[in-house]
Amino acid sequence: MDKLIYLTQHLRIKIYNMQITANNPNRKSWIEVPKNSDFPIQNIPFGVFITKDDIITIGSRIGNQVIDLGALQQLGYFKDLKLAEDVFLQDTLNDFISHGRKRWRRVRNRIADLFDSQNITLQNKPELLEKILFHIDDIEMLLPVNIGDYTDFYSSIEHATNVGKMFRDPDKALLPNWKHIPVGYHGRSSSIVVSGTKIRRPKGQILPKGAQEPIFAPTRLLDFELETAFITTDGYRLGESIPIEEAEEHIFGMVLMNDWSARDIQKWEYVPLGPFLGKNFATTISPWIVTLDALEPFRVASPEQNPMPLHYLQKSKNHSFDIHLQVGIKPNNSIETIVSNTNFKYMYWTMNQQLAHHTVNGCNVRSGDLFGSGTISGPTEDSYGSMLELSWGGTKTIKLKDGEERKFIENKDTVIIRGHCKNEHIRIGFGECSGKVIKAN
Ligand code: MN
Repeated sequence: MDKLIYLTQHLRIKIYNMQITANNPNRKSWIEVPKNSDFPIQNIPFGVFITKDDIITIGSRIGNQVIDLGALQQLGYFKDLKLAEDVFLQDTLNDFISHGRKRWRRVRNRIADLFDSQNITLQNKPELLEKILFHIDDIEMLLPVNIGDYTDFYSSIEHATNVGKMFRDPDKALLPNWKHIPVGYHGRSSSIVVSGTKIRRPKGQILPKGAQEPIFAPTRLLDFELETAFITTDGYRLGESIPIEEAEEHIFGMVLMNDWSARDIQKWEYVPLGPFLGKNFATTISPWIVTLDALEPFRVASPEQNPMPLHYLQKSKNHSFDIHLQVGIKPNNSIETIVSNTNFKYMYWTMNQQLAHHTVNGCNVRSGDLFGSGTISGPTEDSYGSMLELSWGGTKTIKLKDGEERKFIENKDTVIIRGHCKNEHIRIGFGECSGKVIKAN
């Protein structure tokens, strides 16, 4: 056997054998975790935050307490884990992500141990905890990674079918390539923002109904797209591919994502090269990256694929996750209405297939790259992942709790995406991915 292949396989086996002790459902933290919190001690997500003293650092979270991992590292609590000395004293997670899955797992296990109620290392040591713990209300979350490249897929069969029915032929809603290729496009990373960032209504070229010539105006059809996204570590060199069975070794974790879209701008510009200014004005992600390790207890099968895709896309294991997702709209100074409830498990193409396909031509991926799932729609009318589908192209209105109606998103509306996994023992969640729309310039 080729020596390199032997070594990689050997390494993989070692990684799989390292237990994810952080996931033990019986663990309890000495940090109080409110009921229904997305962040029990079994989650241990990673993010970047800034303190009131303007110090930027890498953190994790249990309940409503944010843990300064830079401080923990300086105090020596990761000393034996073979990390770069300053890996948590940075303003992005890219270097830590480059460390690879084995070290992500070790660090999660160590954090779980330090904050376990059985462990007295840090418990009841106020002078120490003052340096390590911050209440979530006392800090501000920042973008967790420096995103070099961003790709967005189109992998929900329900979404692709709905859009195909509305814009093309109801009888041939899916294009001939759809069941053979995880369709995607290269997006823009410069306009990806963290949850809480205000979103300015974009302006652009719009072709009014019946008109021959476009006008220039603020979008009238501003929409959200309910998505998740995964963040990779470094893949192989340019020219090499990530095989499907290895894809998860290169995926650090997931976030929630709102791929804001201006449907009228999109409709006029998208032929023949696809999404452009109707998409790249803003994309919002949630601040906490939930690792695939933390999602492990919620692994499920993805939908059966027929026809069978080509060999490099064939899956051997369960590669999806049971993640409940919802979208709320909150008009200015009013109450929120949940307009959609769906689940990640409906996705036809898995993250592993997306990554295998993305690299099959030799395209390389790097630490911190972001890959959007595509709009996640479920099978029922109340599980669609965009206003385009919920209002069926603007032919229906959605009633909000305060009596208002919507077909698309109005100025001063806040759109909030939430997601969590739940079993009889634990709930692992993502927190919120929210953005408030402000009027065009
Ligand atoms: Mn999208």
